[in-house]
Amino acid sequence: MVLVLVEHADGKAIDPSLQALTAARTFGEAVHALLIGSSVDLSAHGVAVAHLAQHASLDSFAPDAWAAILGQLADRLNARAIFAAGTDRGNEVMARVAARTQLPLATNCIAVATGSPVTLTRQRWGGSLLEEAALHSPRPLITVAPHTVAIAGYPADTTVEEFTPQLNEEELVVKVAERVSNKGGGVSLAEAKVVVSGGRGVGSKEGFAIIEELASLLRGAVGCSRVVTSAGWRPHSDQVGQTGTKIAPELYIACGISGATQHMAGCKGAKRILAINSDAEAPIMQNADYAVVGDLKEIVPAISAELRKQR
Ligand SMILES: Cc1cc2nc3c(=O)[nH]c(=O)nc-3n(C[C@H](O)[C@H](O)[C@H](O)COP(=O)(O)OP(=O)(O)OC[C@H]3O[C@@H](n4cnc5c(N)ncnc54)[C@H](O)[C@@H]3O)c2cc1C
Repeated sequence: MVLVLVEHADGKAIDPSLQALTAARTFGEAVHALLIGSSVDLSAHGVAVAHLAQHASLDSFAPDAWAAILGQLADRLNARAIFAAGTDRGNEVMARVAARTQLPLATNCIAVATGSPVTLTRQRWGGSLLEEAALHSPRPLITVAPHTVAIAGYPADTTVEEFTPQLNEEELVVKVAERVSNKGGGVSLAEAKVVVSGGRGVGSKEGFAIIEELASLLRGAVGCSRVVTSAGWRPHSDQVGQTGTKIAPELYIACGISGATQHMAGCKGAKRILAINSDAEAPIMQNADYAVVGDLKEIVPAISAELRKQR
């Protein structure tokens, strides 16, 4: 059997974890899931057994504790491989599992084939290079790059088995101390169907008023480039890219963003990209489905005005 760490929020497994479940099924073995804290329904995703870990001290994310639980469960089940989503949390927990067990970890895989060794394709350099690799390991540790594998449903009679993991104090030293919700409590960047992003071309913190307005009219989220977070115009939680959030909206509107590879690493999962840029030669034009060449300070308010007229 193969074991998959499934992250969840608001009573649902997150999409990158469902993508990891789909990838894990390519091993052709029974798929077991580890859920921490509370249960979610995984019966549409081919999970034979969902193992629910509950512990009085596990009220928030604690990476070393999660790694300890994953390792203990994998040993008990004699798991052939361990999968997780290539999210910040998934990669961190799996790195800790690798350090604890001295087993190799392959992060951000987009395709995996069972065998000895396991062969896989993984994203390197923010997705600008694909590496074909052979993973020699008695128990491959694999994270799946978010939004690179399509979720394929697979009905199963999932049973849920509760257990209490053994944790020590050191494993609970690093944990989430506080949660700060999005300003305005709107749709989150990672889950938004529409993301309107601004880059250096927006010009200032105040300049984001027109980006916020368009995002709000489209019921979307605001994103930005790293230049913007470095300048302090927006918080890091808004940053899209290799060192920011990786997103896969239906529509990504990039305003005044050049399209550096590190930025595109975060938004290449978008179904459609609309670039608004004064430079017709900007690299983002190569990746855009639609482009408007001109000053975003005129174009963005014009789109908002048109949307208002339609209402
Ligand atoms: C290790 C590493 C990690 C990185 N991680 C990230 C990351 O996660 N996310 C990220 O975004 N970047 C990341 N970067 C930075 C990245 O390389 C670029 O520097 C950055 O994305 C550029 O931001 P930008 O497009 O806003 O700015 P610029 O590259 O300066 O582009 C600004 C664009 O705005 C256009 N423009 C200017 N004025 C207007 C106007 N009035 N109307 C319309 N268009 C206008 C210009 O034509 C230009 O195309 C990383 C870099 C490194 C080295």
